[in-house]
Amino acid sequence: MKWGLFGGTFDPVHFGHLRAALELACQLALERVIFIPAGEPPHKTACDITPFDHRLRMVRLAIAGNDRFDVSDLESRRRGKSYSVDTVRSFLAEHSSPPDLYFITGQDAFDAITTWRQWEELLGLCHFAVMTRPGYENGGLNRILPAELAARYVYDAKQDGFISPAGRGIFFRRTTFLDISASAIRESVRAGRSIAYLTPDAVMAYIASKRLYGSSGKV
Ligand code: ATP
Repeated sequence: MKWGLFGGTFDPVHFGHLRAALELACQLALERVIFIPAGEPPHKTACDITPFDHRLRMVRLAIAGNDRFDVSDLESRRRGKSYSVDTVRSFLAEHSSPPDLYFITGQDAFDAITTWRQWEELLGLCHFAVMTRPGYENGGLNRILPAELAARYVYDAKQDGFISPAGRGIFFRRTTFLDISASAIRESVRAGRSIAYLTPDAVMAYIASKRLYGSSGKV
């Protein structure tokens, strides 16, 4: 079984996230993609972000009806900053026979992987599915990982991925990049502009009903 773990703030979730997750699931034959809203992302402070429960519920609404997509609240049960390595460890601990995990991330985030907490352990715990876009393709693992480590990965043409001696892969996949961001959505809501077609209708209605992001309550 191959499952993707898609972490993010999802404040709010939008079609950019949903489309990218779907394309990755198809390209890598992932049976499931689990959206994992961050508890307290390392680069954001608690007061910057919407309470966890709202973000979780918006993801639930957004993925309703898609059997391949699921959402996990595991980050809400942990105190302190959310680090990817802890997320993956917690996920593995929660499953008695864990599936093969693919940690989904954008190319820009992956480029900085060596700054992530316990990044070498993380690379050993799961595969990586890296979303690339035109003009922003990976120029080789050497550019990202220390040369000594990069050299240990072998490109496997059949899988179209870089595989470590332990069998963990790094898979770069081109996905459609919709120029949508959660921050632009929040800004639009604040300014009273429509966010139609940027996020599912159910999410849009939720934002209005809970008056998130300074919404006036009108959809
Ligand atoms: P913000 O604007 O608040 O920074 P965001 O829209 O970038 O938020 P996040 O929740 O921070 O959303 O992103 C979670 C993950 O989704 C990250 O890995 C990010 O690279 C990816 N992502 C964000 N926007 C898009 C998009 N438009 N298309 C594909 N992937 C995206």
